Amino acid sequence: MQSEDEQLAEIRRTVRALCEDFPGEYWRTKDAARQYPSEFVDALTKAGFLAALIPDEFGGSGLNLDAACVIMEEIQASGCNGSSAHAQMYIMNTLLRYGSDAQKNEYLPKIASGELRLQAFGVSEPTSGTDTLSLKTRAVRDGGDYIISGQKVWTSRAEHSDLMLLLARTTPRDQVAKKTDGLSMFLVDMHEALKSGMSIKPIRTMMNHSSCEVFFDDLRIPTTALVGEEGKGFRYILSGMNAERILIGAECIGDAKWFIEKATAYASDRNVFARPIGQNQGIQFPIARCYAQMCAAELMVYHAAQVYDEGGNPGEEANMAKLLASEASWAAADMCVQTFGGFGFAEEYDVERKFREARLYTVAPISTNLILSYLAEHVLGLPRSY
Ligand SMILES: Cc1cc2nc3c(=O)[nH]c(=O)nc-3n(C[C@H](O)[C@H](O)[C@H](O)COP(=O)(O)OP(=O)(O)OC[C@H]3O[C@@H](n4cnc5c(N)ncnc54)[C@H](O)[C@@H]3O)c2cc1C
Repeated sequence: MQSEDEQLAEIRRTVRALCEDFPGEYWRTKDAARQYPSEFVDALTKAGFLAALIPDEFGGSGLNLDAACVIMEEIQASGCNGSSAHAQMYIMNTLLRYGSDAQKNEYLPKIASGELRLQAFGVSEPTSGTDTLSLKTRAVRDGGDYIISGQKVWTSRAEHSDLMLLLARTTPRDQVAKKTDGLSMFLVDMHEALKSGMSIKPIRTMMNHSSCEVFFDDLRIPTTALVGEEGKGFRYILSGMNAERILIGAECIGDAKWFIEKATAYASDRNVFARPIGQNQGIQFPIARCYAQMCAAELMVYHAAQVYDEGGNPGEEANMAKLLASEASWAAADMCVQTFGGFGFAEEYDVERKFREARLYTVAPISTNLILSYLAEHVLGLPRSY
């Protein structure tokens, strides 16, 4: 039997091997056309990587979060873009922890086999922004159904997912005992919804991310779509968000490694003034600094994953992992462009594409300010600012 370290090393090797079939040219073509990388997502699904967190009994691999982190990190470190599929990892947790047996039996085997994609997560709204508790999408009980009305924004991969986890208000805000009550989570069959009240409009963004606006015009869904208890949805997403932050942190570590590797290779090869540019400390030091920053963030990401895997719900560690890793990745992206000089802007090197892709993670899924606010107020006990 393999040790855990051997198992993780094996996962790294297999993910790398799969990613070799999707070189920079593949991603450049998809990026230019803003096309969803279906072939890549299918390959990941077929290899079982997107079912990593699904328990064996439902056809998945039943792996821990640290293994899922290794998968996402290697995808990014190979130059690929895991954002096309990462939600299936990070929203899985909500279904696993709070879904009914009937929901798990119906959906998990199909998600594990690739028959269904669970890639869409409808939380953000245009008017509420980061203040999730003020979201306005309503779900009103009507006999055996809920009727959904409202709008989501930035629902990534909505056009390429069969299922969506949707957060909506079931009790008006002024009627709840605790301000965190009154929101509920639903598992929406998107194909059915598209026939009867849901519509999707893509948003063209800086990078190829398949983000969309989603509109609900009296969409009727059965009460069996409710995940867990009515009114507890906010609590459910908070617990899922720690896993999400750790996984995104791992993606950022992969990106940082990619930028550092590219910059190191280029600085060794590129000759200006009859010597490699990497011989100049003005080029060496930023690369070395980014390496140190990435290594420190990597320790925090895998420490957070370990605490999570031991059964904790590590808000402090998950937030610090996401903060440090997203900053390490962005610093490495900037350093890489500087090292490449003008060629950092040329599409064929992939640096400019990865630079655009890496920019997201100090903003989404949670922005740096909000993480700092969490640490300041919930960890250090400073006075609440909102
Ligand atoms: C490409 C992309 C994909 C996304 N995918 C999804 C998805 O699949 N599903 C989903 O639900 N959402 C998604 N999002 C939304 C994302 O989670 C939000 O954009 C993010 O949480 C920030 O919210 P906002 O854009 O509304 O910013 P706002 O809340 O409007 O904030 C704007 C700025 O103000 C700062 N700010 C706000 N309040 C405070 C405060 N009290 N103190 C200090 N600073 C503050 C924020 O930090 C931010 O920098 C995506 C976003 C993008 C860009």
